[in-house]
Amino acid sequence: MTSEKTPYKAIQERLNKIAARSPLSQDQIDEAADDILSLVREYFVSPDVLSERYEGGCRAFLSSAKNNKGLPFHAVLSTDDSRSGEQAIPEPRDVERLWPLLDDLLAEVVARYRVQASDYYSASVDEFMAEANEFLTTLDSDVTDRTAVKNRIRLLCQSFRTTMKWSSTFDALKNGCFPQVVSNTFSANSGAIAAQWRYNTLDEDVDYSNHDHRHRDGKVYPIRGNWAGEKGLLARDVTYLDEVSMDLLDVGCCCHLLFLFSPDRLTDSLLSDKGRVALEGSRGLADLGHGQAAKVIAPASDPAAGAGSGQASKTTMSAGVMRTLLRKIPWI
Ligand SMILES: [Zn+2]
Repeated sequence: MTSEKTPYKAIQERLNKIAARSPLSQDQIDEAADDILSLVREYFVSPDVLSERYEGGCRAFLSSAKNNKGLPFHAVLSTDDSRSGEQAIPEPRDVERLWPLLDDLLAEVVARYRVQASDYYSASVDEFMAEANEFLTTLDSDVTDRTAVKNRIRLLCQSFRTTMKWSSTFDALKNGCFPQVVSNTFSANSGAIAAQWRYNTLDEDVDYSNHDHRHRDGKVYPIRGNWAGEKGLLARDVTYLDEVSMDLLDVGCCCHLLFLFSPDRLTDSLLSDKGRVALEGSRGLADLGHGQAAKVIAPASDPAAGAGSGQASKTTMSAGVMRTLLRKIPWI
């Protein structure tokens, strides 16, 4: 920002000057529109500057995740400073192997942010300029009602001030994206085999929204290369999580993923014949409600298996189901 004037004062002065010159020729109207646009550029945060700030924030977050070997979060437990602070939740095994992947994801997230910020900025500015042009065209003849012009200028000034906040609105819509990507990457590499898309109706409350995720609600997407797939339990002709997960980066998306850790959480269409046979007995027993629930995530001998992160859901299995699986599935 180069001027010491408040944005409201600056646009107000400019509009008053323009209105005082009425009636305006078409050339003068165009010139006035350029003049207003120059104020927009002077006072609004540019998409490039916002994207650079965002990239800095993502880098700091990832660096913190690497230092902690887990997902950093600021624990707000009490007003006592000694109890608050940065901590790490349990991480996947050999978490360092994920750093190159997370570096790539950071680049992808930032690249998308740049494009989206630019689109959002353009849409916001276009909307404001349409309003400004509408006002300017009323100045092509002698102004007879000064009060009406004054009121229109006031509304336009308010609109300028509101549109100027595009950067904070956009940032609020996108702020949680990268931490979510990191969290999901940890969960997906903690022995999860699939994730269920959970739609959030807040998606519809965002003014600027060019996506519709309703059709995704409840759908389950297997994770490529997961341990159950490697054992031949899962169908191969499926949509994998990595094919859809980037849609969570859509502007204003409030959906989330629920990670699943056991094949018995999947529908038959996601299982192979071998998987269906293996789970047939266990499902029958589960329907009868046998046994007490016990936490089972994945075969302990499998290197891809392990405790999930705190963000991930862990499936439960009855003791009866466990016995059946022990008989039917050779690797347990
Ligand atoms: Zn969504």
